[in-house]
Amino acid sequence: MKRDNHIHTNYCPHASSDSIEMYIEEAILKGLKELTFTEHAPLPIKDSVPTKDSAMRMEDVERYISTLKDMQYKYAEMIRIHIGFEVDYIEGHEKETIDFLKKYPEYIEYSILSVHFLQLKPNDYFCIDYDSDSFIQKGTSIGFETMYRRYEETLTKALSLPFGEWTPKKIGHLNLIHKFQKAYTVEDPIQWEALMDLAKMNHYRLDYNFSGMDKPLYKKTYPNADMMMYAKKIGLNYETGSDAHQAKDIGRYFSSFEEF
Ligand SMILES: [Zn+2]
Ligand SMILES: [Zn+2]
Repeated sequence: MKRDNHIHTNYCPHASSDSIEMYIEEAILKGLKELTFTEHAPLPIKDSVPTKDSAMRMEDVERYISTLKDMQYKYAEMIRIHIGFEVDYIEGHEKETIDFLKKYPEYIEYSILSVHFLQLKPNDYFCIDYDSDSFIQKGTSIGFETMYRRYEETLTKALSLPFGEWTPKKIGHLNLIHKFQKAYTVEDPIQWEALMDLAKMNHYRLDYNFSGMDKPLYKKTYPNADMMMYAKKIGLNYETGSDAHQAKDIGRYFSSFEEF
């Protein structure tokens, strides 16, 4: 596990102020050979979380790219650096997202497609990973099972090439809906294996994401061990990622997990 392919930066308003160089230095210190920066691409909707800090601002995108290009040059002898985005699948706003991706086609293969927002009503998008209070409040009001089903439907669309040839074919933290799972009970209705079959059929890869290990109400990887077993069985490829939002989290837990 010498590659960390899910990393945020100080261009993200909810990340730490650590400089990109601090992330790279940390990676070199930990013996990593390859990094992919995947900052949250600007959202095509009004940010629905209270802090309004889910993604990079549109006016920062060019500077994000040029900073990383400088880093590729500066660290060329020591580590490989790729530039990508973590792109949200926002149901109903596919057109705007395609327009963004078309502007940056060379970064699509290094990008991640994630579902953080569920469309509950035409103009009502709920962020599933903001905090446990809002998740539990929403789950209690509409039903956790309903929320899970909505997540499954949204993921199904995200895994069906919603942006055509511009779709990033790496699915972020597949079971993010489990982030606060220790705080409530639900009979999980999601057909996880069918979702992975779909991912395989459409030639996606999984983001094997270690950030969940540090979430007190989850404490596992995304996807979890059982899902990873199934992914291995069907030959669905994966890429390791820390989802670091601060330099010290680069490559977190990589050394305690054996290569599958
Ligand atoms: Zn983030
Ligand atoms: Zn994410």
